[in-house]
Amino acid sequence: MTQALDTQTAIAVIGAGAMGSGIAQVAAQAGHKVYLHDQREGAAEAGRAGVAKQLQRRVDKGKLEQQTFDAIVGRIHPVSALSEIADSGLVIEAIVEDLEIKRTLLADLEELCNEETILATNTSSISVTALGAKLRHPERLVGMHFFNPAPLMALVEVVKGLATDNAVAEIVHATATNWGKKPVFATSTPGFIVNRVARPFYAESLRLLQEGAADPATLDAILREAGNFRMGPFELTDLIGHDVNYAVTNSVFNSYYQDTRFLPSLIQKELVEAGRLGRKSGQGFYRYT
Ligand code: NAD
Repeated sequence: MTQALDTQTAIAVIGAGAMGSGIAQVAAQAGHKVYLHDQREGAAEAGRAGVAKQLQRRVDKGKLEQQTFDAIVGRIHPVSALSEIADSGLVIEAIVEDLEIKRTLLADLEELCNEETILATNTSSISVTALGAKLRHPERLVGMHFFNPAPLMALVEVVKGLATDNAVAEIVHATATNWGKKPVFATSTPGFIVNRVARPFYAESLRLLQEGAADPATLDAILREAGNFRMGPFELTDLIGHDVNYAVTNSVFNSYYQDTRFLPSLIQKELVEAGRLGRKSGQGFYRYT
């Protein structure tokens, strides 16, 4: 049976945005030392502060011991230089959804880390095969796709590229299980499983909006209350971030040779161009300030 990484293994998370901070929390809760790095000054510290804020609510409600809180937050180490993560056994990148930027980071990580270090990508849609193609050892790259918010969502897609070593995917699967997640294996098809199935949900909702069927709040309420969806499409894309969701749609659209089934929405493009990225910027379809 494949062994999961033990808690003596340091984990590094690169990118301390919505996903990276959540993933750092998950790994720290499981007992690992976690390095958190972001190229934006202060972002890693802000990521850890965000985790502390979330956990503090549970302390206040009596659902988490103060001692456990201190231990979890104390295990997250914001680092300003990428070189500080060199002794990690698993590095999970959660940076911007862009093939070339991710490739550059992965190449730097390959130089920095030792040969046993597993490199994982939290990409929502970019081919793991393509991300690994320029690495010297693409067999150690695997997709580890968490869902938003990472501490609450159980599913993790463990995505194998063409060159991914099965043993590496097995270790990541076993580790995710130890972290309390429900991992599934997927191959590197555009959008993998969930983001592929979810594309028509977003696309048709955006088309309905463009056709003037109803406003976002009405459409969200109908899908939540009558359709039994946990969240409507507009509140959900505000949570995901329109920059991320739009990049994922473009990635799937282009991977399928511009199949119009996956056509990106002009409404979402406008939101991205206006900087209305959703919750993280204070405004998307809704206002948060
Ligand atoms: P985000 O915009 O909240 O955070 C990205 C962070 O990465 C930013 O803080 C940015 O400063 C940092 N960054 C960018 N380039 C960097 C680099 N070269 N080195 C170090 N840091 C860098 O984005 P997010 O929503 O956390 O998404 C991150 C990744 O996770 C993307 O690949 C996205 O597709 C994927 N993902 C997102 C969601 C979601 O719902 N938002 C869900 C699953 C997966």
